[in-house]
Amino acid sequence: MRCPSCGYLESKVVDSRSADEGASIRRRRECLECGMRFTTYERIAENPILVTKADGSSEVFDRQKLMRGLLIACAKRPITPEKIDNLISSIESELRSGQRNEIRSRDLGDMVLARLAGLDDVAYIRFASVYKDFQNVEEFSEALKDLG
Ligand SMILES: [Zn+2]
Repeated sequence: MRCPSCGYLESKVVDSRSADEGASIRRRRECLECGMRFTTYERIAENPILVTKADGSSEVFDRQKLMRGLLIACAKRPITPEKIDNLISSIESELRSGQRNEIRSRDLGDMVLARLAGLDDVAYIRFASVYKDFQNVEEFSEALKDLG
């Protein structure tokens, strides 16, 4: 399992527990290169969550891809990779618990932003500016207002 931070392929399992009411096993892994801890889930193959983009195309929800985007948004901010990992886990379990197999990329972005808003303003704005394609200044200031 490739480390989401440095890309190294070797990691060790530091914790393993049942999740989603026994439907999956959650493993905490530690990268043997950089020491970053991240989470993997083992579960019976099920329908993947599809993320539909504005142009109508869709792709399979990819934890690691979201992790990379968030690591960039949170660069040099006081947010540990562990917090980012937990943020993604909470999104994934919300999607799975709602039995949703499909989500619009914009809605996924909103789910991320809702969680980032409580964590760090700078990371929120960085992520918002990349993830939402703001049509105009008004829309951007609306997003800033949401910061409260
Ligand atoms: Zn690493």
